[in-house]
Amino acid sequence: MTQRYDHFINGRAAAPADGEYFTSTNPATLEVLYEAARGTAEDVNRAVAAADAAFRNPLWRDLSPTKRGHLLRRLADLVVENAEELALQETEDNGKLLREMRGQLAGLPEYLYYYAGLADKVQGSQVPTSSIEVLNYTQREPLGVVGAITPWNSPLTLTTSKLAPALAAGNTLVIKPSEYTSRTILRFAELTVQAGFPDGVVNVVTGMGAEAGAALVEHPGIAKISFTGSTATGARIASSTAARFIGCTLELGGKSPNIVFGDADVDNAAMGVVAGIFAAAGQTCIAGSRVFAHRSVYDELLEKVAARAQSIVIGDPRDAATELGPLAFEAQLEKVSSYVDLGVAEGAQVATGGGRPETGLGGYFFEPTVLTGVDNSMRVVREEIFGPVAAIMPFDTEDEVLALANDTEYGLAAGVWTQNLARAHRMSRRLDAGTVWVNTYRAMSPMSPRQGFKSSGVGIEHGLESMNEYTRLKSIWINTDEGPVADPFTLRS
Ligand code: NAD
Repeated sequence: MTQRYDHFINGRAAAPADGEYFTSTNPATLEVLYEAARGTAEDVNRAVAAADAAFRNPLWRDLSPTKRGHLLRRLADLVVENAEELALQETEDNGKLLREMRGQLAGLPEYLYYYAGLADKVQGSQVPTSSIEVLNYTQREPLGVVGAITPWNSPLTLTTSKLAPALAAGNTLVIKPSEYTSRTILRFAELTVQAGFPDGVVNVVTGMGAEAGAALVEHPGIAKISFTGSTATGARIASSTAARFIGCTLELGGKSPNIVFGDADVDNAAMGVVAGIFAAAGQTCIAGSRVFAHRSVYDELLEKVAARAQSIVIGDPRDAATELGPLAFEAQLEKVSSYVDLGVAEGAQVATGGGRPETGLGGYFFEPTVLTGVDNSMRVVREEIFGPVAAIMPFDTEDEVLALANDTEYGLAAGVWTQNLARAHRMSRRLDAGTVWVNTYRAMSPMSPRQGFKSSGVGIEHGLESMNEYTRLKSIWINTDEGPVADPFTLRS
């Protein structure tokens, strides 16, 4: 019998109001894994009500910031204890390599420890106004119930990027995980209760984006939406939250340039290109999907990248030797495959890959693919494919490659490979992207703020700055003059 998972509301499992469940499948083997509750607006209502009650409950509202930090640290310890089980479940759900998910789980406590440390450092300031007869000071307050909506590609890491600062600041949460990766988020929510967070502080409603997700976005009890996912969904969320004047933080898609100059260490650059586009089968928002190579190293780079692509071990993501797992679900495979067909129809050549490999596993595998003969006018170069497909283009000058790299609606990340220090700084300054890596790619830390420019996002995740996304600023004025009010018709300042 298939295992069933309910929502997690007010500290316990909660069956869906209308009794509906959906099936989750292993994308490598197509084996049915489990069923999860298919959330509706009614389930979202219950979860928001629980989160709202928890926000007002003195057990949470009056807990000191230092104690909120202790709870986050305890949660981190529980993540460590449960890391192997959680990593394996994420791999089975989304097809990413077990060794990558183990690495993500090993890094997760860092997020929790970091924001645990920040919980009691959220402070306002005293403001010197022009009058000495008033005391003006500011304080930062939690917002209330935060709705967190997350994708399938790094479920726990991306959820923790929101949960850790939101809880450190004293908010409560309703999480709607991706319909492809429900169970680790449900388990994580259980661990929050085990860690000592009061019931209702963390709630999870599983289900479809257009149903549970949309109901959460539109719920009047939500103080903010923090979303990671596609730019199309982000745009819908932004217009809904803007109409109600509530905040949103959006971490969206990308089409990031990875630029290799003629003076680069080409062997390292080739590995950086491979890491940028073939790690996680290209299913990362920061994928370096547009590769620009200086004409003097274009052939050498192409040869090295293609050779490594051809030697990539494709197989079950649970095997230690595997380097490339499947795409996460069937529609994703169809999308990637149809983009390659489109590229060829637009005039591109397939230098390597381009089809489905023989694995004997039956899952949604796609070969690491390199397209040449492409330019910025083509849809394969302009649109996010979210798969292992690199488009490689030659360039001649720094100004030319800057213009090409910045000619995109996205602005999430960029890579630069050069031995020239001045050029490294110049490019970092002029690239229109929220993260720039020089002679590396995919480096990330909870301590380092990141922001998507242009259509890649709104607001900041990670780092000190992220705490501001989960607080609001209040300005308080205390009259220190006990004398009579001289003139009620004149402003005091
Ligand atoms: P998606 O937008 O389809 O779904 C993301 C989440 O939103 C899921 O939980 C989904 O159920 C929900 N959702 C879908 N429609 C909704 C609606 N109308 N209202 C409310 N919620 C809705 O994205 P995805 O396919 O899960 O993830 C891949 C995308 O995420 C890519 O574009 C990728 O670049 C982006 N991403 C961005 C970052 C980042 O940090 N910038 C990180 C990872 C992924």
